[in-house]
Amino acid sequence: MQNVFEYVDANREKILAELFTLLRQPSISTQNVGVVETAQLLASMMRDAGIHTTIFETDGFPVVYGEINSRDATRTLLVYGHYDVQPPEPLDLWKSPPFEPTVRDGRIYGRGTADNKGQLFAHVKAAEAFLRTRGQLPINVKFLYEGEEEISSPHLGSFIESHRELLKADAALTADGPGHESGRQPINCGLKGLCYVEIRARGANKDLHSMRAPMVPNAAWKLVYALASLRAPDGHILIPGFYDNVRQPNDAEAAAVREIPNDAPLQRQLLEVNQFIGGDEMYYHNFVFGNSCNIAGLTSGYQGKGKKTVLPCLASAKIDFRLVPDQTPEEILEKLKAHLRDNGFGDLEVEFLGGLNPSRTPVDHPYVQAVRRAVRFATGKEPILSPSMGGSGPDYLFTGVLGLPSVWLPMSPHDSNNHAPNENISLEGFFEGIRISAAVMDEMSRY
Ligand SMILES: [Zn+2]
Repeated sequence: MQNVFEYVDANREKILAELFTLLRQPSISTQNVGVVETAQLLASMMRDAGIHTTIFETDGFPVVYGEINSRDATRTLLVYGHYDVQPPEPLDLWKSPPFEPTVRDGRIYGRGTADNKGQLFAHVKAAEAFLRTRGQLPINVKFLYEGEEEISSPHLGSFIESHRELLKADAALTADGPGHESGRQPINCGLKGLCYVEIRARGANKDLHSMRAPMVPNAAWKLVYALASLRAPDGHILIPGFYDNVRQPNDAEAAAVREIPNDAPLQRQLLEVNQFIGGDEMYYHNFVFGNSCNIAGLTSGYQGKGKKTVLPCLASAKIDFRLVPDQTPEEILEKLKAHLRDNGFGDLEVEFLGGLNPSRTPVDHPYVQAVRRAVRFATGKEPILSPSMGGSGPDYLFTGVLGLPSVWLPMSPHDSNNHAPNENISLEGFFEGIRISAAVMDEMSRY
């Protein structure tokens, strides 16, 4: 790998200038700002790197697809990433403009640095380093870069379903998500699923003077009782059958979680939380294997200054359930509705706002072990192997639809401010990401 790593070192300025060009181009999918232009820019940069690249139109924003076919290669790696970004607002909280990448204190600041342009670009440059130094890669690589991840990937599933042959591979790799506080490189072997709903309760047909509260049902109370019926104070979810399809962690997964450095006391300090649900010992167990029923938003009545004696006619809550294998969002939605019906809350409206299936690749899969060796080689440190990230994403399309082993390797710091002002990536971490990606390609040719 010596010459490949040397190429990266020798071309630091050039690589950084190219990354900055990509970062300067806004690609805000939810506002339809610059997304198509970014697809074209990324495609031309991939072609310059020596990747055979095509732009596929979808019913939304395009997929940028690249391929490198290598002589004698027996393995194919599918790399996934997204070139769209979150809106930069609120602008006044940025220390430097969001679309003017700036280096400060060893970090590159700008929208998309971590999520996800900096990370997807690392794979492009890793491939380039092989091509420029050896003329070929040790494996075949397919690049699948979408422009709709930040709006929940509405067309990725159908794109993958209808391009199974094109996307045929032996394993999938995604560089996304937060790093670990210890600075050691996480290898995540799955993502949680998600079932997102809005629940609405109604009282009278309009807000009333609260003198009528002894007689007229209050929407906020209805909602509060319904919500309280969903979950016990210790976090246990009370919906009948909720846990029926939970696959218990196997020995290898449980052992992997025990190896994660437990920094729960520090996390409590940083968050100013007295006690974690389940206690410090269970922090990573719950982070990796735990379900949740989270109130993401809660609205009713009068919340302004002073007092208003009102009887609200409407109350609503947004709830997200994190799911683990083998739960599905559809199943959880049905069980939630049945629970509300059976407990006298049948008149509440439940609107499904979106879902994702959970995914899992065995931690002892040979591909995972190859990635582990590669990270060790590229960073000189033992990676943190985790059976799952705490967050959700479209990983089940790779594991479930394409049937591939898949890992998520976040190449960004734990505090990269994704989706927030002053998003950043570590400058050295970015170059290390290129070396990790190259090392994975190299190790994959041998397992
Ligand atoms: Zn994001």
